[in-house]
Amino acid sequence: MRPSFHPRLINGPFDDPGLFIPFQFQNRAVIFDLGDINRLASKDILKISHAFVSHTHMDHFIGFDRLLRLSLGRPKNLSLYGPPGFLENVEGKLAGYSWNLVDKYNYPLSLRLTEVHPQYTVCRHYRCRDRFKPVQDPVKQSFSGILHEEPAFKVSAAIFDHSIPCLGFSIRERFHVNIIKDGLKTLGLTPGPWLTEFKQALYRQADPASKFEAKFDRQKSAKHFSLGALAQKIARITPGQKISYITDVVYSQSNRKRIVALVKESDHLFIEAAFMEQDREIAERKHHLTTRQAGHLAGTAQVKQLTVFHFSPRYTGMEQQMRQEVTTAYESSFRQQVEIGLDG
Ligand SMILES: [Zn+2]
Ligand SMILES: [Zn+2]
Repeated sequence: MRPSFHPRLINGPFDDPGLFIPFQFQNRAVIFDLGDINRLASKDILKISHAFVSHTHMDHFIGFDRLLRLSLGRPKNLSLYGPPGFLENVEGKLAGYSWNLVDKYNYPLSLRLTEVHPQYTVCRHYRCRDRFKPVQDPVKQSFSGILHEEPAFKVSAAIFDHSIPCLGFSIRERFHVNIIKDGLKTLGLTPGPWLTEFKQALYRQADPASKFEAKFDRQKSAKHFSLGALAQKIARITPGQKISYITDVVYSQSNRKRIVALVKESDHLFIEAAFMEQDREIAERKHHLTTRQAGHLAGTAQVKQLTVFHFSPRYTGMEQQMRQEVTTAYESSFRQQVEIGLDG
């Protein structure tokens, strides 16, 4: 299976958090957290359509300025999501600059901000050509866990305790379309951007009888099919990919239960492990996880792959020991969970 999402941490485990998730064959990406993003190439930053910010501690939000800087003067709609107080935080950043020349840009950037509360969201829209003054009054909508949804995928969030509210995220593909290479060959087709259009048509649940044009060979050749007949020959549907991201959370009972619910059976979980198990008390005081706690959460949630990050700089040179503590806890909790499943 060729995955649709290709998540990667922007920085090393001791540096600022940020998970970049580009989409296969699309000039598009989403990002979880906006710490220092200078290591991300400009062309990658420009792929970002949606940025999800866990909380506005500086190490998770300082990259906002770079994202904004690169997006100015481009025909972009940027959607940003964050915890309670997020609108005020972003408005404060926008108020820190002079915007007297931005109405001259040919392409107006627009920002759509969503602030997430336990029961509702507050959305507000800002345009560069209006010098980032809000376009309308804030719009309140009920919130039941899904922050953003498109035919192909959705992003869910939950609010956790980090002495302040902190969001965790999960992106889930609706289903996965595997392309059968032999099918392509039989029909005389070659892969290309038309496959993205084909998949989008399946996600939209377009009428199987509708006509579909496959423009291949660098758009030089075209063949026509009914969508359903083409799907039968070249597509195999499997469960969608799920990627989750958890950071800056205290190991409380309420957090644990809700973290496991959000990240359950993810294909890949990215989770903070700021402290080693021997410093459990410091972790609790600072509202972070230890290595063992991170591994235990991942194993209990039966995630298939696990990556830890956000190590405290006090452990510089001890990366291997930290990863070992995580792996041991993950494997034993995973096994226990499987045994419970077999018993039950
Ligand atoms: Zn924090
Ligand atoms: Zn942090």
